[in-house]
Amino acid sequence: MSGVLGQGLPPGTEIDRVCLCLRLGGRRKAALDFLKPPGLVAATCFQRCRLMSKAKNSWTQSTSVSPIYAGLTVTCPRCGKGSLLQTFLNLRERCSVCGLNYKFVDTGDGPAVFAIFILGFLVLGGALWVEFNFEPPLWVHVVLWGVVTPILALGLLRFLKATLIALQYYHRAEEGRLSDD
Ligand SMILES: [Zn+2]
Repeated sequence: MSGVLGQGLPPGTEIDRVCLCLRLGGRRKAALDFLKPPGLVAATCFQRCRLMSKAKNSWTQSTSVSPIYAGLTVTCPRCGKGSLLQTFLNLRERCSVCGLNYKFVDTGDGPAVFAIFILGFLVLGGALWVEFNFEPPLWVHVVLWGVVTPILALGLLRFLKATLIALQYYHRAEEGRLSDD
């Protein structure tokens, strides 16, 4: 198989995933979807065959890292090993282990919106519970929730950001494009 597909590829390139157009008999269209080693990742069929969308599906379903695992560990959505974030909330350019380029990432306001809903429920519920059970003075609430809320928010944002990126990667969610692109 590598003989058919290996044209133009560096020697020793390991073929990890093959576009479905090969399996369906289109030998001349056959191309690689996903290559190793790192740095040689092709997100689309080199020949841009029309069957690529099916190949993409088969590729995403066979990925070994679950989005929840990648989210909880804040790691690369493809290999689950490389770190996803450079600083506390800033994304890296690419995975240091498998070389996945994080250019595709577009979570927008998603993590913040989920964090606001979840935190609002937790903090308001917690404040009511503390008030009804202990009836502390007002400054206790100010100090307690003033400290707890940012800590929860930052932890939650990391997890939510990584999870949404993993889900985006897993489902290959992206802006619509014309099929000839
Ligand atoms: Zn990776």
